Amino acid sequence: AIRAVADQGIHFAVTTETTVALAEAICERFQLEQVRFVNSGTEATMDALRVARAATGRDRVVKMEGSYHGHHDALLFSVVPEADTLGMRDNVSGESVAKGAAYTTQPTSKGIPRSMWEDTIIVPFNDAQAVEDVFAERGDQIAAVILEPVMMNIGIVVPQPGYLQALRDACDRNGSVLIFDEVKCGGTIAYGGATERFGVRPHLAAFAKAVGGGATTGAFGGEASIMEVVTKGAAQQGTFNGNPLSAAAGLAALTKVLTRDAYEGLGKMGTLLAEGCQRAIGETGIPAHTVDLGAKGCVSYRSEPLKDYRDFLDTLPDLYYASYPWMVNRGLFMTPGDEEQWTISVQHTEEDLQRYIDAFGEFCQELVK
Ligand code: PMP
Repeated sequence: AIRAVADQGIHFAVTTETTVALAEAICERFQLEQVRFVNSGTEATMDALRVARAATGRDRVVKMEGSYHGHHDALLFSVVPEADTLGMRDNVSGESVAKGAAYTTQPTSKGIPRSMWEDTIIVPFNDAQAVEDVFAERGDQIAAVILEPVMMNIGIVVPQPGYLQALRDACDRNGSVLIFDEVKCGGTIAYGGATERFGVRPHLAAFAKAVGGGATTGAFGGEASIMEVVTKGAAQQGTFNGNPLSAAAGLAALTKVLTRDAYEGLGKMGTLLAEGCQRAIGETGIPAHTVDLGAKGCVSYRSEPLKDYRDFLDTLPDLYYASYPWMVNRGLFMTPGDEEQWTISVQHTEEDLQRYIDAFGEFCQELVK
């Protein structure tokens, strides 16, 4: 698709037929009424937040402790914070005064204006009550609640039953916008992303990565009554938004590669890989568990599943750091970074997965030698 479009011209700075076709494909599979294009996941969450603020006339935003939504100013707060900044270095698995409470904090990066620090309120993932409490105290100030419906930057943390719906209900009751950041999970955990997999529709959702089929793109969209502020004074623009090169790659990825059938295959392969790794964990008794979620999965070095970011602080990252070179030295390139996850491609075969399982099994054996 990229070669074909390269012959015709890769950029005109106007909407093309391919861009429209990709918009329709995205709206269909992710249950959006309207969508707009951007160039990255960062821009997708940044602009979704702009639209939410414009639609509500409010400034403040609620985000989850530990999560990442890109590198724009508003959400670079509490991104994988060190345990000691949470006041719990010696008390990782015990009770903490701050547990469950909403708070504001200094940003993760230098260079973020102090005037923004108070606008981003942090709550734990999987704690609907914490969000209810924020609404009870200052509901009329909250423009949006933004989250990855399944956290994917600390291994994989799945939402507890009822959690996402409780957030949707709380946002509805308080006139706030629920934003799902589906940048990672959108293309990977189901044909219709987290919205389909967990059966809860957000007001807005942000996408990137897989929806561009490897080319540079991003998108966000959702309910028309919210998105329409873009035509009523909320700025949303960009020279390369929806450019034909990225649109062609995205359209091919979504309509020819990542079909409904493909997810069935990816799901089976993912389970094969997760079960293989889980067997190795069981045989050696190392403190770890696997998570299996469509094309995504991971090994987390803690015996019990994670519910929130503080559980992640209770994992053993050194084991992950040891596993990385172990796997690379055996020809297996894992997702770089301390995220402990895999993404299965439609190109992977069962033999590929067996190589992974074998190498991981030897790693576990080595640990208990
Ligand atoms: N949201 C999530 C959940 C992400 O994982 C990422 C990037 N890993 C982003 C947003 C930012 O996307 P990008 O790197 O394309 O700006």
